[in-house]
This record gives sequence, structure tokens and C-alpha cells, in this order.
Amino acid sequence: KPKNRLTTQAYIDGVLNGERVILSRAITIIESSLESDRILAKEIVQAILPASGKSIRIGITGVPGVGKSTFIETFGMHLIKQGYKVAILSIDPSSQRSKGSILGDKTRMEALGQMEDAYIRPSASGDTLGGVANKTGETMLLCEAAGYDVILIETVGVGQSETAVHGMTDFFLLLMLAGAGDELQGIKKGIMEMADMVVINKADGNNIRMSEMAKRQYQNALHIFPQSESGWTPIVSTASSTKNIGIDTVWDTILEFKKLVDKNGYFNKNRNQQQIQWMYNNINEALKHLFYNSENIDKKLTALEKDIIASKISPVKAAQYIIKAFKESF
Ligand code: GDP
Repeated sequence: KPKNRLTTQAYIDGVLNGERVILSRAITIIESSLESDRILAKEIVQAILPASGKSIRIGITGVPGVGKSTFIETFGMHLIKQGYKVAILSIDPSSQRSKGSILGDKTRMEALGQMEDAYIRPSASGDTLGGVANKTGETMLLCEAAGYDVILIETVGVGQSETAVHGMTDFFLLLMLAGAGDELQGIKKGIMEMADMVVINKADGNNIRMSEMAKRQYQNALHIFPQSESGWTPIVSTASSTKNIGIDTVWDTILEFKKLVDKNGYFNKNRNQQQIQWMYNNINEALKHLFYNSENIDKKLTALEKDIIASKISPVKAAQYIIKAFKESF
């Protein structure tokens, strides 16, 4: 057992009592790739599970510079004023590879960071998106067990991490800017389609008129998407994160959404589906790991590649062959 490690029960009690220092240490255990930590992490998560789930989980995305940190700072302060405890988790895909960071090293969310009722945890990093999603998901459960009632999961709108965040949240918020030319450029259609709300940020000063125009364009754009399973019609609004305009509207909209999906049953249905999907994602990851790390697989695959190129075996047949060999190795 590594030095300085608390007992399993001390982690569990500390998290359940909302002790921030212990919460942070427990999250570090979750993020660790040490085998002994991974075992401990699973025990902690399993123990706190009954106390989790009672928050509203909000995914927030948008390209770098759109104002995510500024928005979260203002939005988070608004929530704290209403008496909520807010946890902010960020997924930064760039830090996986380069250790550099799109989310930036600058001091982000300065005022919020000082608040007793806010907990900010920057990006979990990992080798695979699945691994990162697991860690963020478990971190979210810990924050809920520690008494945070609003969880904000922030991600940069440039990669696949949005889909992962969409898969673990109740409400998906897309921040956009009014810009010259094509308003829809830069963000993938798939991400637009996931949005429960689009907020045109920086709607202040000279930018107000453009922002109103952008709002109408997005409203029209969202119209062409099929009705979502939630029964909710996506809302477009404008906001200024620096001037704290329209931030209350965002929260009011989320509350309206919550009311609707509580009533029509979608909230629970979606959460259940997400849980099940989480299991399958893990099975898929584990199977891949098992396969690619099984004995001599590299050699066999290299040989098969050659045979495919030499037209000795078809790709489909090659796949069948190697899976069969894998199965027989048990
Ligand atoms: P992020 O990269 O998406 O996290 O964006 P930041 O929050 O770091 O904001 C990028 C820049 O836009 C900063 O200089 C902010 O001060 C500015 N900004 C953010 N929100 C607003 C806003 O509502 N209005 C104006 N005028 N500037 C904003």
C-alpha cells in the first residue's frame, strides 16, 4: 500500500461528507493508472454509488475563444447565488497527446475558484477517449456524492469528446459566436444536432445586432433537425458572459427542460440508457484490449497483412481467421 494512502473507508466517508480535500484525493485515485489505485477507485465508486445521481448534469461545448471559461464563471456564480453547489469538470483532448492544452494555462474562472460552493477540476487525461470518459464519469459520480447539485462538464468543440460528454449528461449546451459569413462554420453538424440549447455568446456592445441575426439563423438551422426523443425543442438565445446578460435565461431554460423531461419520463429513461451504454463501452474497450494484447497477435496480424496484399486471403476471411485463433487461445 503506497504511503500517504488513506483507508478505503476514509475516502468514502470524506467524499460523502463533502470534504473537498478528500474528494480531490479520491479523484486523483480515479485518474491514476496504478493497478492498486484502480482497485481502490472501483471500491470507492461502488460505495458512493447510492449517494450519486441527484444532480443535473450539463455538458458545455464550443470552440476555443468562444468564451467557455468566462461563461462558466458567470453562470457558476449565478447558480451559487441561487443556493446550488456547482462542480466543473473539463475534458481537454489536446492534453492527451501533447500535454499542451487548448483550455489554456491562464487562470480560468478566478472568482468561481474562490467559492466554497464551487469545485473545479481540470481535464482528466488518458490514452484513449474511452478511458477519459470513464474517469470523468466516475469523477462526476464522486462530485454528486459529495453534494454538488449541478455538474458542468466542459469540452472543447473540436473532437469526439463532445459525443462522450453528450453520453453522460442530461442537457447539452453549445456556445457559439455571431461571426462574419457562414454562421455555421467551424462546428460540426453532429454537434449542433446534440444541442438542447445554443447560446450566442458575446452579445454585447457592437455585437448585439449581429448576435440577434445569428440567433435567427440558428433557430432556422435547428428547425431542420428531427424532433428529439426528449420531446424538447432546442432553444437559441443570446448572452454576454462578461456583462452577465442572458445568463439567467440559460438556467431558466434548463429548469424548464428538467420539468418537461421529469414529467414525460425521458430524464430517467435517458439516464438508464446512458448507464447501460457506459457498460457496453467498457466491454468494447476491454475486448479490444484483450485482443490486441493477446499472445503473438502482432506477429499474426503482420502475416495476415502480407497475405491480404498478396491476395492470398480476403480481408473478411483474415478477420474471421484471427478471431477464431483468438477464441481458441482461451
Ligand atoms: P474559451 O477559450 O472558450 O474558454 O474562452 P474564454 O472564456 O477564455 O474567452 C475568450 C475571450 O473572449 C476572453 O478574452 C474573454 O474575455 C472574451 N469573452 C468571453 N465572453 C465574452 C462576452 O460575453 N463578451 C465579450 N465582449 N467578450 C467575451
